[in-house]
Amino acid sequence: MDVSCDVPLAPRTTLGVGGVARRFGTVTSIDELRDALADAAAIGEPVLVLAGGSNLVVRDGGWHGLAVAIALPGIAIVDDGDTATVTAAAGVVWDDLVAQCLDAGLAGVECLSGIPGLVGATPMQNVGAYGQEVADTIEWVRVLDRHTGQLETFRKAACGFAYRTSLFKGSTRWIVVEVQFRLARDRRAAPLRYPELSRALGVADGGRAPLADVRRTVIELRRGKGMVVDAADPESRSAGSFFVNPIVNSVQLAALESRLPAGTTMPRFAASGGLTKLSAGWLIEHAGFAKGYTVGRVGISRKHALALVNRGGATTTELLALAHEIQQGVHAAFGIELVPEPVIVGVD
Ligand code: NAP
Repeated sequence: MDVSCDVPLAPRTTLGVGGVARRFGTVTSIDELRDALADAAAIGEPVLVLAGGSNLVVRDGGWHGLAVAIALPGIAIVDDGDTATVTAAAGVVWDDLVAQCLDAGLAGVECLSGIPGLVGATPMQNVGAYGQEVADTIEWVRVLDRHTGQLETFRKAACGFAYRTSLFKGSTRWIVVEVQFRLARDRRAAPLRYPELSRALGVADGGRAPLADVRRTVIELRRGKGMVVDAADPESRSAGSFFVNPIVNSVQLAALESRLPAGTTMPRFAASGGLTKLSAGWLIEHAGFAKGYTVGRVGISRKHALALVNRGGATTTELLALAHEIQQGVHAAFGIELVPEPVIVGVD
């Protein structure tokens, strides 16, 4: 692996904030990755694994160690009757994989069109959108164990998938190197589970539509919300959703409802285990933070209340101060703690 020094990380993230990596390199094979980890361990250097940078916030002090960009290539599609297995290396661009699967007439990831980032990052937070999540179709996740240097394969049941999380999220032990999905051989999408998407497609809830139509419509919806990374759209200079939708129990829900002004209808959705999922975006707007709210060089996207945007030349300190202001405002209004969705790394 070729290593460069003092490499700016901001251009490697969709938010475009943060400091430099003391050392930086790109790996294109598992052996190269293993060697890079061993070399760093030998000199006690911390290692940051970089994927697409779409869910990453680097602090202004940067990364005092080695940053490794994962560029492992390769997609293999194997037919298996009514289904096919799709095995993709961690460095494959997620949306390229989705496009290739749909072109091959394989259904199960179409609602996840237009999501930025790389395949290897998707199991970490069980990426989901418009009624699908990667856990619906993942067969297994192959990881490199940083403690042992060995490869391990976790079948889906062992991955600890839950709402926007997994066994891998928040752990520095495993680096995802490959993911296998099982997709249905079908030119029509799986039954639609997201009313906004069904409406846009003109299909009844639970109905079905051609894969290509679903992909086009999801990307249009995402673009309308600044959620397609596009250099021409300043509202997309974000990390997507900055906060996770809170999941609350009945006691928390009752406490929250008691704070709502009479006649207010709050969106809520049944979640597993008898819990209730709330809309973080709704809470933010109703705590007084409108779309477009701006503090200096950072703000809330004009297209979506859940995205924090770098309006040009911002620092991470400014961004995190805005995030903190929003968290405090939502807590004061509703008693709910908003938890950031992106991974925040580095030193102040
Ligand atoms: P929205 O339609 O404004 O709704 C707000 C939230 O309510 C969504 O996040 C969604 O949760 C939930 N919701 C809405 N209808 C639902 C239903 N019928 N059943 C269960 N939950 C429902 O959402 P949005 O922010 O524009 O996002 C649209 C979709 O794209 C969502 O699925 C969202 O997760 C996804 N998305 C994700 C990111 C990201 O960075 N991770 C960015 C943009 C969009 P869920 O999030 O659980 O679906």
